[in-house]
Amino acid sequence: MKKRMISFGYQIVDGEIAVVPDEANIVRQVFQKYCDGSGYHNIAEELSLAGVVYYRDDNVWSKRKIARIIENKKYIGGDDYPQIVDFDLFHRANEIKSSKAKIHEFKECLPIFSYLKSNIVCDRCGGHLNRLAHFGKQERWLCGHKCEFQHFLYDDEIYKEWSGVILKAKEYDFSVERNKDFVPYKKSQDIMRMNNEIIRQINAEHPNFSLTKKLIFDCAEMKFRACKEDKYAIYTQKVKDILKSATEMDTEKLSKIISKITIDENGRMKVLFINGIEITNETGEQNATENCNEDRSKSAIAEA
Ligand SMILES: [Zn+2]
Repeated sequence: MKKRMISFGYQIVDGEIAVVPDEANIVRQVFQKYCDGSGYHNIAEELSLAGVVYYRDDNVWSKRKIARIIENKKYIGGDDYPQIVDFDLFHRANEIKSSKAKIHEFKECLPIFSYLKSNIVCDRCGGHLNRLAHFGKQERWLCGHKCEFQHFLYDDEIYKEWSGVILKAKEYDFSVERNKDFVPYKKSQDIMRMNNEIIRQINAEHPNFSLTKKLIFDCAEMKFRACKEDKYAIYTQKVKDILKSATEMDTEKLSKIISKITIDENGRMKVLFINGIEITNETGEQNATENCNEDRSKSAIAEA
């Protein structure tokens, strides 16, 4: 099989580069199909099935051949090459190509992806969700505990959910006081009794030193145990500080304020923050009233 020395769509005539009309039509079809949403693979298959000749006895089209056409700047003319594809179509196709490349890059390289991969758990049983790459056409996320939960999702759908939730969290009003009735310290009957006993011992004519010492230590310990931290306030401050400075890509920072990430049967992500607030991406596709109400009642519980 001889290799083509000149790009598909062109030939040399009398030392000049000229268009091969039939091939130029194919080139334009390739661009149009790609812009209409066909992938390299499908376009290549169609051309092979239609028996379109690439070069001499070569009529087998591959993804690589289609990619080379989409990337080939000669088709918009210049450097002695006549124009075959108009600039807008060429530009559109290459924008699609680079956006697909970004998704691919995201899948394989970005730390955000490995973070999500190791942190998303099953909404049903809390088991780790495993990702099986490219099961059929989509990635498949499958519960490791074999609770039969599995979800077919593209990585970029997961990413869309994630960035939506983080954006929502950034806008979330955490300032509403959730713990109005919080009492940091409450004196119990035992503490009061022990306090009185200590005072009695101290004021006694012949105090029992070792007993008094023990009472004081025991009392201090009881008081310490009776103190409560307002975890909501403490954690909320941390959540707010980190959300203010982190982007959705800063998994190192975000992992410090996130205690759980789940995906439910509808592919909706829920992120539970360390202060007990659970946030979902309500701007997603789940706009049914029923779902909205359900989610509101759920988050009300989480916030209670
Ligand atoms: Zn499960």
